[in-house]
Amino acid sequence: MNDTSLMKLYKSFGFESAHFLPNVPAGHKCGRIHGHSFKCEIEVTGPVDPLSGWVMDFADIKKAFRPVEAALDHRFLNEDVPGLTNPTSEVICRWIWEQLKPVLPLLSAVILHETCTARSEFRG
Ligand SMILES: [Zn+2]
Repeated sequence: MNDTSLMKLYKSFGFESAHFLPNVPAGHKCGRIHGHSFKCEIEVTGPVDPLSGWVMDFADIKKAFRPVEAALDHRFLNEDVPGLTNPTSEVICRWIWEQLKPVLPLLSAVILHETCTARSEFRG
């Protein structure tokens, strides 16, 4: 691997949250309060340090995510989290990016799984 090679790291987190979507058409199921077991993948991209052999410590990704998890886990997103009055996957995904990027400069993507088959991805 030469000096310009980049490596991607992924770390996954889970949190449980309740929400509803206030702007869907009348009668849409997402307009009712319900919960999700969200899974969030954090992608960081950077060069591999020749001495340590890593891009960064996975533990530091975990540390950066901790306040995000605390803000979202077992919360009613619409009411408990400023900025998430319309908590679609897309809005939550971008919100997580905005929390993490200042403390995790190598952040390159936030991938948010709302269900096993539905996810969104934000790359800044
Ligand atoms: Zn939902």
